[in-house]
Amino acid sequence: MAAVAQLNGAVNAGLRKGILAAADSRRVQRFVRRHGMRLGAARFVAGETLEDAVSVLRRLNDQGLWANTTLLGEGVLEPAHTEAVVAAYREVIERIESEQLRANVALKLTHLGLEIDEELAYANIMSLLELGSFVRIDMEQSEFVEATLRTYRRLREAGFDNVGTVLQSYLYRTPDDLEDLLPLAPNLRLVKGAYLEPAHVAYPHKRDVDAAYRRLLERMLTDAGHTAVATHDEQLIEHTLRFASEHGIPNERFEFQMLYGVRPQLQRDLVRRGHKVLVATPYGPEWYPYLMRRLGERPANLFFFLKNTLRG
Ligand SMILES: Cc1cc2nc3c(=O)[nH]c(=O)nc-3n(C[C@H](O)[C@H](O)[C@H](O)COP(=O)(O)OP(=O)(O)OC[C@H]3O[C@@H](n4cnc5c(N)ncnc54)[C@H](O)[C@@H]3O)c2cc1C
Repeated sequence: MAAVAQLNGAVNAGLRKGILAAADSRRVQRFVRRHGMRLGAARFVAGETLEDAVSVLRRLNDQGLWANTTLLGEGVLEPAHTEAVVAAYREVIERIESEQLRANVALKLTHLGLEIDEELAYANIMSLLELGSFVRIDMEQSEFVEATLRTYRRLREAGFDNVGTVLQSYLYRTPDDLEDLLPLAPNLRLVKGAYLEPAHVAYPHKRDVDAAYRRLLERMLTDAGHTAVATHDEQLIEHTLRFASEHGIPNERFEFQMLYGVRPQLQRDLVRRGHKVLVATPYGPEWYPYLMRRLGERPANLFFFLKNTLRG
């Protein structure tokens, strides 16, 4: 049994690497971009427009779920393009407020210009935080972790409390990053990590990533300001609930977060059990890299996608 699980794990790890590497191929990109929405991307993405996203956010709210939304995009290299991204996020934040949705925004600093100039990304996110709503800064590839955490810290030191960020359990550096952040009573989302990282930076084996997640989770629940337990892993979800109850950590100090289109029944079950669940619900025409990361996380999704391709 253990050998079968190990073999399955190895096959999945190989497929994950293959899918994430194939994502860079021009031919794969062209094909998936042209046909992807019809073939299955809509399962993970709330549509291409803000209108599409708002109706999905409302539907999630009606089911007792919270949501965050992201205008998909990353790796912007033109300053003028970042202005357009900031304007689009302004509109999203104002729309969430005017529609009184239980939702906020999560964004990527490379979408706001981090690869052009860290100061530009800082000024861009600051202008969005000035609107007063909570904004979470996603965590991207390991090369951006240092600058992302530096930006988060600067924002907190500048007096912005309406900002949170993300730590990834697959990185060896994360326990140290967490200890550095704890004095700020941070609002942190904990994830396993979605990118293809080299073995000198991140644990290559899932069991180590999961074990690290458990350790970081316990530390965060005990000492962070607020913890967003972002996983679909039922063992870790149950561990969170057990640990919180044994250590007298109140429900308001943590929430669960899952991705739109992934384990929707589990999302609703947790709501029924009285827990806050937020569904990360991205939208926008630039859904390609996001879709490829979702396929990489669960190779079975690739078969779902390919089945639709053969049917189509
Ligand atoms: C709200 C949220 C925000 C995130 N933000 C970031 C971020 O900022 N940076 C970052 O690097 N990563 C981010 N991630 C992705 C994360 O790093 C993982 O890649 C992803 O959550 C899968 O890991 P898991 O914890 O669900 O556990 P896994 O062990 O991978 O999965 C547990 C179970 O969940 C189900 N499952 C998991 N993924 C999928 C999927 N794609 N499709 C269908 N079923 C699936 C399967 O049943 C699987 O057996 C985010 C994830 C969530 C939920």
